[in-house]
Amino acid sequence: MVEHATEKEQTAFLQQQSMKMLIGGQWVEAASGKTFDTINPSTGQVLARVAEGEAEDIDRAVAAARRAFEQGAWPKLSPAKRAHLLLKLADLIERNAEELAELETLDNGKPIKYSRAADVPLTVEHFRYFAGWATKIEGETIPVSVPNMLTYTLREPLGVVGQIIPWNFPLQMAAWKLAPALACGNTLVLKPAEQTPLTALRLGELICEAGFPEGVVNIVPGFGETAGAALAAHPDVDKIAFTGSTEVGKKIVQASAGNLKKVTLELGGKSPNIIFPDADLKYAVRGALNAIFFNQGEVCTAGSRLFVHKSVYDEVLGNLTSMSSKMKLGPGIDPGTDMGPVVSQQQLERVTNYIATGKQEGARVTTGGNRVGNDLAAGYFVQPTVFDQVSDQMTIAREEIFGPVVVAMPFEEVEEIAARANQSAYGLAAGVWTNDIKKAHKMVAALKAGVVWVNTYNQFDAAAPFGGYKQSGYGREMGHAVLDAYTQVKTAWINLR
Ligand code: NAD
Repeated sequence: MVEHATEKEQTAFLQQQSMKMLIGGQWVEAASGKTFDTINPSTGQVLARVAEGEAEDIDRAVAAARRAFEQGAWPKLSPAKRAHLLLKLADLIERNAEELAELETLDNGKPIKYSRAADVPLTVEHFRYFAGWATKIEGETIPVSVPNMLTYTLREPLGVVGQIIPWNFPLQMAAWKLAPALACGNTLVLKPAEQTPLTALRLGELICEAGFPEGVVNIVPGFGETAGAALAAHPDVDKIAFTGSTEVGKKIVQASAGNLKKVTLELGGKSPNIIFPDADLKYAVRGALNAIFFNQGEVCTAGSRLFVHKSVYDEVLGNLTSMSSKMKLGPGIDPGTDMGPVVSQQQLERVTNYIATGKQEGARVTTGGNRVGNDLAAGYFVQPTVFDQVSDQMTIAREEIFGPVVVAMPFEEVEEIAARANQSAYGLAAGVWTNDIKKAHKMVAALKAGVVWVNTYNQFDAAAPFGGYKQSGYGREMGHAVLDAYTQVKTAWINLR
């Protein structure tokens, strides 16, 4: 990439590139020779051609990861050396921060100010945090009642891990997957989303530059039904870590049954964000705005169901509508942009279809409600959209839209709101806005969600576990909780008699 070049120059540079895949420490073409295009959603233009991995490439990548695991290139390296390499990678990401931020924005569409302030620095922190864990993965001695026995546990890596990630936070999702798996001594095959493979491939270059042994990290871009499905079903993969839609998550579970792989799933959401009348309303409205429109609403935790107490409903809705209508839509690469395009033409169609369904089912649009322009070459922009007069049964109140669309609904009974918020197949996240500390803790206990934010929203930290209840998935990422997902426990009995 050309550092600090204009978008035009960056695009021209990328268009000349043909991105290969990383297998066994080598950059290689797909076995079939096929490539696919990755598109800049701000312009509809091709950004780069990328090698299209399929089952044969997955086979090659799994074999490379298996060799690196069995020959001890990674699991037998000292924990301190593993930590050192992860720290070196973090430093390299930091050194290339601007390039990665621009690449992320061009490929995904998200505003550059967020790529710079969140995606890249949080990726760096993720690798640093898990570098710290590499030297702290411990077994236990167990006080058994059998005489003369020394019984202890070892926490060992699982082996070869397959990791499949979505397009909404391509670099961060790669970091969430790679860092803990590597800290625990596993080798892996990562399949980035077909819409956004570029930062994962650049990360692969930095992994090589840092000096990771060959085959420890393999990166195979490609489509879900081919490369992803082959990885999920592969008989020599010990575990699959998947982030994506609930629908595909179910397919992953089925595909993994062949060799009973371990599976962890981070899936979709339809998260409630609840504003009580005693909240500081100025912050609550700003919080509700960020909860839904950050990253174009393409966030699994998006606060897409906004419940507001009826006594303050009109005030909150009025302010939210007015603030939403003032958001600056534009190409992600423009530093003044508040909200970029959605990721793809397919996503544009999906989101606008949901908006049309909302209108047909009788909900009222208070702001937005349309795409911007009709020309795909003008990018995949959807206006920030707020719906009022929504019932809990409407499609837009139940299904994950994964775009900049929020449904606002009043509530009357404080005692019943948790039950109403919990009426969802999902259970990923929830927000509560109140200045009453008792109410806050009661809501935290009552909400069926893997994370509850009080007087804040969309907070993440490498040290804080994250994952879903119900059909939002199982297993946790981040914090020490994720170490369970990348290790297995061996119990040793030593007869001392
Ligand atoms: P998706 O499920 O279609 O795709 C996600 C990944 O799975 C991609 O890499 C894709 O190529 C792959 N895939 C698709 N079909 C596959 C198959 N049959 N077998 C194996 N792999 C397959 O999801 P998406 O639309 O790209 O991403 C959006 C979804 O991800 C939303 O539902 C969102 O809530 C969810 N998400 C969840 C989290 C979380 O942490 N819980 C984070 C980000 C996104």
